[in-house]
Amino acid sequence: MSREIYPKYPPDLNEEQLQYLITNVKDWSIANGLAVRPVTSWISKEQDPVGSLAVTAPVTLFPSLFPRNCFEQGLGIQTAYNELYAAIASNETWLKQIVEELVEVDDFIAELWKVHQAVKKEGYAQDTTLGLFRSDYMVHLDPTQSAAKPTIKQVEFNTIASSFGGLSTQVSKLHNHLLSVDAYPEETSSTIKTSSLPPSTSVPSLAGGLAAGHQAYGKSRSGSPVCVIFLVQDPERNVFDQRHLEYTLFNEHQVRAFRVPFNKIMSYTKLDGKRTLLYTPPHAPDKTWEVSLVYFRAGYSPDDYSGKADWDARLHIERSAAVKCPSILTHLAGSKKVQQVLATPNSPHLARFLPDKSKATEVFKTFAPIYPLDKSEAGQEACKLAQNSETATRYVLKPQREGGGNNVYRKAIPKFLEETPESHWPAYILMEMIEPPALTNTIFRNGEVQKGGVIGELGVYGVCLWKTKSGEDGVQEMLENKQAGYLLRTKGDQSEEGGVAAGFGSVDSVCLV
Ligand code: ADP
Ligand code: MG
Ligand code: MG
Repeated sequence: MSREIYPKYPPDLNEEQLQYLITNVKDWSIANGLAVRPVTSWISKEQDPVGSLAVTAPVTLFPSLFPRNCFEQGLGIQTAYNELYAAIASNETWLKQIVEELVEVDDFIAELWKVHQAVKKEGYAQDTTLGLFRSDYMVHLDPTQSAAKPTIKQVEFNTIASSFGGLSTQVSKLHNHLLSVDAYPEETSSTIKTSSLPPSTSVPSLAGGLAAGHQAYGKSRSGSPVCVIFLVQDPERNVFDQRHLEYTLFNEHQVRAFRVPFNKIMSYTKLDGKRTLLYTPPHAPDKTWEVSLVYFRAGYSPDDYSGKADWDARLHIERSAAVKCPSILTHLAGSKKVQQVLATPNSPHLARFLPDKSKATEVFKTFAPIYPLDKSEAGQEACKLAQNSETATRYVLKPQREGGGNNVYRKAIPKFLEETPESHWPAYILMEMIEPPALTNTIFRNGEVQKGGVIGELGVYGVCLWKTKSGEDGVQEMLENKQAGYLLRTKGDQSEEGGVAAGFGSVDSVCLV
């Protein structure tokens, strides 16, 4: 069956047209903060003594073609996804069963669970949680149907540190700008037009979510002014992505935010007797701020925890009265294992967390087959598929990790399993590879122009703010539940990973067809 669903795209450009386009991309990107810090190995200390250099973020020169029905499908179900994950994160009894299967084989999950248990014992000091989620999809054509309409299949659901919401608004603006300055040749005018280029609202929407979390915290308890903390990695190349949210939070909502590296949290914050989180900035040691909300852009990877001190820091934040984005339970709800359990056909779990049948049906349609690698019947079947060098090529093996670069793909799976003790296999899930239709585009990354086959991944952001009641499972009150804009990431089709920050992809926007 042909996997061609798109017209020929993008157009060929002559040298002058290409230079005009690239000049516009370079200058617009820097002028509007569509930028990242350079990789340190590119630049010597003498060339950048104070770390002031920035480079254009990797982008596609053209917005990628994307089926309109798929785009609308993704945006349309985001609030159902928010509801689903808020319900899972609020059901400790259910999450406990999932986590218990993992603690034996996954130290990182085990440590996160320990933090939750310690805080539970003492009692949580905050009953409101903020989720800035991102649900990621690829376009899928059902190979069993010759006249299949493209639909979307979910790659994964992110509940912590969902990135690129800052840059995605900018890249959709960039592509709109390129259209308006005639950087795209006349022959594309019926394809690349304003009505095909939906803006991404991720910056105002996610900043609005942070403001809502801050607001829900309420008045200062200590008398000090109230602020938000962005908990970050240091160094962070993707800093402007985060700064766009910070600046909009301040400009639109008058909420101050400070960036605190994860490994500095114990140096600059303390808890008072009521577990109010107090922040003393190193640049102003005589001032104190009360923290309403901790927004995690770090702490999702074992690499962020070099030892006990970092786990103490995570516990310190979780104990505090600040609203967390996300809480430990919300972080754990985003495990790949949870995605596998939900995707099990005829399982009662999805219906339980999303009681509205039509919503559950729409959400279920976006699941690709995912299997456990455990002793269950489905697990045993999946183990066979994964060990066989022919069948393994249809799958990706995923551990319970975030941030890219952790998966094992296709023919590498059997050897990887051979080298992994069988007792550890349940730490992974086996997922069918989504095979999107053929698509071409031109990526501009690190000053190089690369034209060729590409794979796009649509991310839909969600803002969700909810309250739970101590000791009770379930969402007590939903304060906000919104779709919050989109992101398209595009990578060369020779790369299995797609992470922009991990060094594989580019940021993109959709050209609806
Ligand atoms: P992470 O949490 O590390 O981002 P993902 O599940 O998103 O993990 O996997 C990383 C990348 O691997 C994705 O961005 C995508 O490019 C690729 N990938 C993951 N699952 C699939 C799949 N089922 N089909 C095709 N590609 C996939
Ligand atoms: Mg992820
Ligand atoms: Mg991902």
